[in-house]
Amino acid sequence: PSGLRIRNVSKKYANGVQALRNVSLDIPPGMYGLLGPNGAGKSTLMRTLATLQEPDAGSIYLGHIDVLNHKEAVRQTLGYLPQEFGVYPKASAQELLDYFAILKGVTDRAVRQATTEALLRQTNLWDKRKQKLGGFSGGMRQRFGVAVALLGNPRLLIVDEPTAGLDPVERVRFLNLLSELGENSVVILSTHIVADVAELCTHMAIINQGQILLEAQPLEAVAAL
Ligand code: ADP
Ligand code: ADP
Repeated sequence: PSGLRIRNVSKKYANGVQALRNVSLDIPPGMYGLLGPNGAGKSTLMRTLATLQEPDAGSIYLGHIDVLNHKEAVRQTLGYLPQEFGVYPKASAQELLDYFAILKGVTDRAVRQATTEALLRQTNLWDKRKQKLGGFSGGMRQRFGVAVALLGNPRLLIVDEPTAGLDPVERVRFLNLLSELGENSVVILSTHIVADVAELCTHMAIINQGQILLEAQPLEAVAAL
């Protein structure tokens, strides 16, 4: 199995908010949508899957990897695009991507050049590679975030509310980019926008107040709303 198996994951914050209640999901390879309103628990689940946060209870498997007990192994095969992807504004896209590639352990310069060129082309940023990130639009920044998240060919790509600040043209372009990636790996897209899920995802779940309300194929679910 190459998908993600989540069982009975719960999380209560120190302030008493129960952000996740017994969340269980089976997420196959492809594009998976996690749909829910603000405060539903999406970011908490995304950060938990990305091994950035510990749940109070539950288990998570990526294929045969026990995610919560083998965080380093998961991080090697994980790409995570957080809600607010901060970039250093004075660096160019190529410089910063090269820098992240070094951090990922790609020490060979020629390999790094080939890798970053491929990613900048894939995310449609090759022509902008010499521009400073401070001048990038929201959509360009998000696509740059995807390029960073894809360094190291992750089997699991986690994208938290990526279309929030995008105009309609950028949004479509960004979603198309994600759907190309969904062919070989698990891509989880968290969003409060029904259309994001309806247009692209093969499977989805709806979360509210930390609880999974529904798991479905998007077309059935949207028809039921
Ligand atoms: P979202 O848009 O996903 O709901 P928020 O704006 O709620 O995100 O949260 C932004 C950041 O603040 C996150 O890192 C989150 O963990 C943190 N945060 C959110 N709510 C609280 C809270 N009640 N107490 C402390 N930190 C919080
Ligand atoms: P979503 O991403 O769906 O907006 P979150 O996972 O950010 O939801 O938040 C779920 C609930 O947990 C919200 O009530 C939020 O305020 C709360 N929360 C999130 N992060 C924190 C935190 N670090 N400390 C305390 N409460 C938090």
